[in-house]
Amino acid sequence: MSSDVVACPACGARNRVPASASGIPKCAKCHAPLPWVVAADETTFDAAVDARVPVLLDLWAPWCAPCRMVSPILERLAGENAGRLKLVKVDVDQSPRVMTRFGVQAIPTLVILKGGREVSRQQGAGNKAQLSAWIGRHLT
Ligand SMILES: [Zn+2]
Repeated sequence: MSSDVVACPACGARNRVPASASGIPKCAKCHAPLPWVVAADETTFDAAVDARVPVLLDLWAPWCAPCRMVSPILERLAGENAGRLKLVKVDVDQSPRVMTRFGVQAIPTLVILKGGREVSRQQGAGNKAQLSAWIGRHLT
């Protein structure tokens, strides 16, 4: 299983964050919730979006300038909502079946999933305030 290393926002300790897990990743040192940002592809997609917290799905491609603009905003939002949100990034060039499954017409397409089901989507990039408000409406 793939995992990424992130720094704990509370204490700075470096932690491995799993791509999929039954709970919420927490810092091994101080137990603060960690930002959960993972990259998924066709083979890992279903496991990645099966999370206890809402999933923000970022359907992007490396050649897409608006995608590169919005990506750091999404990562900051994942950090601000650590423990309440999981960010799953899918490069649609590498995962055409995910693109087809979501009927993606243009990228970036951002989708909020709960329990693996789509509850909202936005096509195109947005600024941080707009994206934060949109995501906030779907967090419990
Ligand atoms: Zn910590």
